[in-house]
Amino acid sequence: MTVTLQTSSRNSHSSFSALPQVRNAIRLGGEWVHGEGKLYTVTNPATGELVQEINQASAEQAKQAIDLAYTAWRESEWRTCYPHDRALVLHQIAGLIDDNLERLAWIQTLNTGKTLKETRALVGSAAKTFRYYAAAVETQEGTLTTQRGPWQTQTTFEPLGVVAAITPWNSPIASDAQKIAPALAAGNAVVVKPAEWTPLISMALMELVTQSDLPDGLVTILPGKGSVIGDVITSHPKVSKIAFTGGTSTGRRIAHEAAERLIPTTLELGGKSPTVVLEDANLEQALQGVLYGIFSSSGQSCIAGSRLFVHQSLYREFVEELVRRTTALNIGPGTDPDTDVGPLVHTRHRDSVAAYVERARAEGGTVLCGGRVPADPALAAGSYYEPTIIEGLTNSSLTAQEEIFGPVLVCIPFADEEDLVEQANDTVFGLAAGIWTPNFFRAQRLAERIDAGTVWINTYKQFSISTPFTGFGDSGLGLDKGRAGLAEYSKRKSLYWGTSEEPMSWGKHG
Ligand code: NAD
Repeated sequence: MTVTLQTSSRNSHSSFSALPQVRNAIRLGGEWVHGEGKLYTVTNPATGELVQEINQASAEQAKQAIDLAYTAWRESEWRTCYPHDRALVLHQIAGLIDDNLERLAWIQTLNTGKTLKETRALVGSAAKTFRYYAAAVETQEGTLTTQRGPWQTQTTFEPLGVVAAITPWNSPIASDAQKIAPALAAGNAVVVKPAEWTPLISMALMELVTQSDLPDGLVTILPGKGSVIGDVITSHPKVSKIAFTGGTSTGRRIAHEAAERLIPTTLELGGKSPTVVLEDANLEQALQGVLYGIFSSSGQSCIAGSRLFVHQSLYREFVEELVRRTTALNIGPGTDPDTDVGPLVHTRHRDSVAAYVERARAEGGTVLCGGRVPADPALAAGSYYEPTIIEGLTNSSLTAQEEIFGPVLVCIPFADEEDLVEQANDTVFGLAAGIWTPNFFRAQRLAERIDAGTVWINTYKQFSISTPFTGFGDSGLGLDKGRAGLAEYSKRKSLYWGTSEEPMSWGKHG
């Protein structure tokens, strides 16, 4: 059944008198239809208020959607058209995102609790991701290798078919764009499964994508539970690749399913990243970098610098100043321009973070600041938690080993480089690391020795879409971003062109 728009996009508003809503419908075979799954209530984590009710997709609709996406992909010219024609459509989508930046930022703030400053940056980055992949596909080069015989070899790229993009709740528009843009650029159809807590921004993005000249049916949005929709997606025979960002245990499960079906997966998973402050660090820079690295996004970031290693000679002085600055951070709703730390995404997640801090206390940790729900009655209805700094635990404690995914920092002193490298690498994760020192040689040495896919030196939590992003160990498999990220959404085919007119010299006629 086709449905009509509930609320259409309102372009370029700088503020809203009412909550911006999205169309309550799933995208199925090029049409908007009502989800037949359970009704889901999306709440504003800053206030606990209802933002919107969403009809999730049912398992049956998810199966049908993938079949229809496959048919649309087979029948459209998208998979065979010239890359520069695909690039035009990606530029259109980028333009639509930019034109709706303010609305999209508000939706993401209302749904995730993030500050508007951050969500504006994320929406802007999503537009840039589409532009980057427009440029990347238009300039992508196959290879023609040096001849090794009377033949010439050529490598080409072909689309995979239907790609499933499964995304988490922490930065939905950025993680959606990082999968949808390269997948479309490479000539695929995409089925997007947003996180249950934060479907709105993905649904709003999908509305915009469908306003572009992308052929009908190539994008599908399936809001719903991971255990219902996610399972259908990962086991469906017409899904040719799973691009997943989320928790390590979910990623492992998806990898099992993908291994059964022998399809490629990209897994961007959890982290427990070390940030290292050496004796000679520029302290002002390091303090600001450490604060931003753990407490921006309320610590709900896979690359949050959640384990802080400070050289023992300056440990006490550094941590005291860090605590002083942390207690001065403004906690409040993401819509308030003065807010530094917004609410956590959901009260259930806030309670999980609080339980980790209680366990840290039980493990013998000393909570230097935070460690509780803010006392301010104005914040009581939201899912806030104070930025928390803990010391007195070793790196082998559960608090230092497990991903908390909230505003919780564990501080640990180190004696020398050997001690530091051993502790920093004593983790199942390998996503990111930060090093603060003006000494190039030490930074280089440590960057090589710390086992992480991304190492920031004298900066932290900065991203470039042109730079590949990978995780080692339990932090992931495969890569996103960059030109290499585009190739992840293609099949590579090798053609051998014979260059001799002579028949092959083999057998009695050769
Ligand atoms: P999650 O694993 O619970 O969920 C991620 C997505 O998977 C959601 O859309 C969810 O509905 C879906 N899902 C759940 N069960 C599924 C199943 N059985 N089959 C298919 N899909 C299923 O993660 P989350 O709580 O939404 O996000 C937080 C996690 O994401 C953290 O661990 C964080 O570190 C990680 N993360 C990693 C990166 C990265 O790039 N490495 C980026 C952001 C977040």
